[in-house]
Amino acid sequence: MERTIRLAAALAVCCLAACSGGPAAPAPTETVTPAAPAPGRSPSDTRTTTLDDLPPPADGRFHSEIRRVPASVLARSTWNRRCPVPATSLRYVTVSFRGFDGLAHTGELLVHARAAEQLVTVFGKLFAQGFPIERMRVTSLAELNAPPTGDGNTTAAFACRPVRGRKAWSQHAYGLAVDVNPFQNPYHRGDVVLPERATSYLKRGDVRPGMIQKDGPAVRAFASIGWEWGGDYRSLKDFMHFSANGG
Ligand SMILES: [Zn+2]
Repeated sequence: MERTIRLAAALAVCCLAACSGGPAAPAPTETVTPAAPAPGRSPSDTRTTTLDDLPPPADGRFHSEIRRVPASVLARSTWNRRCPVPATSLRYVTVSFRGFDGLAHTGELLVHARAAEQLVTVFGKLFAQGFPIERMRVTSLAELNAPPTGDGNTTAAFACRPVRGRKAWSQHAYGLAVDVNPFQNPYHRGDVVLPERATSYLKRGDVRPGMIQKDGPAVRAFASIGWEWGGDYRSLKDFMHFSANGG
């Protein structure tokens, strides 16, 4: 039970971090909701266009790069000297991803060095299988501290935050956890749903694009590197969350 409570608190923190939008966001994505559902479309369907934060792959194929974290990236991240990993243990990873618009885009992640290559293989698999992601970029301190917008949907890894109300760090603070499409895959515990406006996506049997499903492509891809899924937790559900140690 202790572990469960700790986990719940940790995940609540990480989700808040992942889902909050903030004034420092360099380039927004645009969500276009049809005025009336087209024939055959569910009223809950949205068509989301990803505006590029980074240049998309010119050839439309999967590309990746792993490098030490550039000073400019570190400066706009949540890292500081009190974080549980030195900056030298993090890597700046760029990977192609498929947007909800069907196009190839380039995303960025800060991850622990020992997970970098593995995570590239994960996102390579998701790209190959056409699993859509709205946006993927490094979480800024402003975003971390901003009031939640309720509709955040940034796929991200590193966020230097302790578990709320405790001294222990979230796995995100080590770069050893990734949240994927928080809006389609919310955190849910009791009355708490994060992002707040994502309640429609608690209906996990109503499968829509970008949702992570048990035995689906995302769970399989992360399982291939031994990472566990928050959708398998018992006392709460954190459908967006994958981590190296299950925490
Ligand atoms: Zn998480």
